[in-house]
Amino acid sequence: MGELERKYDVKIQNTEDKVKFPDELKAKLKDSGLMDAKGKLKLKGVSPKMLKRMKQEFVECPVLKEDIQFVQCFICPNFQSRVMGEVLCKGDPLK
Ligand code: SF4
Repeated sequence: MGELERKYDVKIQNTEDKVKFPDELKAKLKDSGLMDAKGKLKLKGVSPKMLKRMKQEFVECPVLKEDIQFVQCFICPNFQSRVMGEVLCKGDPLK
C-alpha cells in the first residue's frame, strides 16, 4: 500500500456557530496530552490563530456518517493529511 493510499477526500466545511467540544472528545484530547486541564488545545505546530479557525471547521465524515469537528478528525487514526481544504482520509472502519 502506498503511503498516501486513501479512500476519501473529505471537504472541510465552515460553520459560523460557536462549536462546543463534546465531553468525550475533551477527555480524549486530555488523555493524549493535546489539551491542558483548563481545556486549552495544544496541537503541535498549530498556531493559536489557526486553532481558532480549526474550531469552526467540520467534515461530514464518510466513515462515522456524521458531522465531525475538524479537531477530532485531525486526531483520527484515518487522518492522513490536509490538502487544499480537504482531508485525505484512509476510510478504515472506526469503532
Ligand atoms: S479522518 Fe476520521 S474523522 Fe476524518 S473523515 Fe476520515 S474517518 Fe472521519
